[in-house]
Amino acid sequence: MVARPFPAIKGALSDGFTLALCLSGGNRGRNSDIEKSNREANMLNRFTRIACGSAGLVLLLVPLAQAQQPCCRSEGLEVADLYRVEGLDERRFTHAEYWESLATALRSDRIQVTRLGESVEGRAINAVTAGSGPTTVLLWSQMHGDESAATMSLADIIAWFASAPESDRLRARLAERLTIVMVPMLNPDGAERFIRENAVGVDINRDARRTATPEGRILKSVRDSLQADFGFNLHDQGIHTAGEDGPLVAIALLAPAADEERSWGPVRQRARGVAAAIATALEPDLEDRMARYDDAYAPRAFGDNMQAWGTSTVLIESGILPNDRQKQELRRLNIVALLSAFETIASERYADEATAAYDSLPMNRSVDYSILVQGGDLVLEGAGPIRADIAIDFDDSAAGTGPRYGEIGDLEGVVALDTVNASGLFIHAGPGEEGMIRRGTPVAITARRGPDPESQKVWALGTDAP
Ligand SMILES: [Zn+2]
Repeated sequence: MVARPFPAIKGALSDGFTLALCLSGGNRGRNSDIEKSNREANMLNRFTRIACGSAGLVLLLVPLAQAQQPCCRSEGLEVADLYRVEGLDERRFTHAEYWESLATALRSDRIQVTRLGESVEGRAINAVTAGSGPTTVLLWSQMHGDESAATMSLADIIAWFASAPESDRLRARLAERLTIVMVPMLNPDGAERFIRENAVGVDINRDARRTATPEGRILKSVRDSLQADFGFNLHDQGIHTAGEDGPLVAIALLAPAADEERSWGPVRQRARGVAAAIATALEPDLEDRMARYDDAYAPRAFGDNMQAWGTSTVLIESGILPNDRQKQELRRLNIVALLSAFETIASERYADEATAAYDSLPMNRSVDYSILVQGGDLVLEGAGPIRADIAIDFDDSAAGTGPRYGEIGDLEGVVALDTVNASGLFIHAGPGEEGMIRRGTPVAITARRGPDPESQKVWALGTDAP
């Protein structure tokens, strides 16, 4: 991992040192009432783990140069808090709600709104442009209608560009050097239903070559007219782990391949530098919760084709953070990621950026199922018991809701996020459809001590478990 600067619980002293204060454990929970204080408490906990050990009250003197963070972690978190657009508190919102929430910001003369075209069902697909610099940056989010984390982040970034004071040097610098074109909610019909595909069931991210969908055509055409130098392909992903045994992935990054050989031409190399800058900026908050997405060439996908068309493209996948079901924390961290990327592009640091921060990320590893119930005996009404493992997935893996049956049987070798050892237990399931349990149907199981339905209950999962 990259070297970690000390987290930001500190106050600068005039003599060039930073005072870092470690509190004893008893004080840490004091501010836990509101979310922001929680974050500070978390940072403080992490800091005390690093620097304080089991000591009570300790004062550390840290050289200021060492304590300074590269742009734009603190700037991004400040934008996230001060320019947070109201009305987007949950992951699911409609096209109308989204653009309504931005109505005030869109009146600013610092930004332009362009109607690029419309979706299958006639919803406007808009681009919001900030800045007028020579380097062009194109961002698109929610091409998959149920992947909205970055759509919320773009709203906050738009609000910041619209209303930050003239004294905000980062905004002024980015606006002077970059032309940033944001297309939030590329798939408004999918967003309306909160599904991946568009209104005719097509996955827009498999339509980059054919551009048979209006949404795909719009994205290709805005890239071509802009001849975008840089691109950001903003998605959400379900359950993945960072490497074999790592934690759940909160953010996965990819500089997609532009060809089968996955060659590192200059276009992809620039994207690699930007991805490394993002990994560095997020490291203090996410530590080992970042991963590198598989770079196998995907010839139908937009990210890979953008790279081949000459736009240095980075994929950002917002995954899962514990206790962040509505992805509001990931919304904040996407702002850190994007502002850091913008700054890296504006200062042309992507060429010198050490790529190790990206290259050394563990692989983004998918799991077969969320839960594997292993070693138990399955009891159905009027049948069994038979020895069978049960795999389970959730409709919404971020929220952990809507468990459904996956495979049932001998599931040795199946990889699940959590494996429940049911050895010696009887898994009472059903009743299910026509007395059967079937793959894809809602889970209703109770683990009991014996085959008798009245025997002692150990645990249950799903609604109306028997
Ligand atoms: Zn996606």
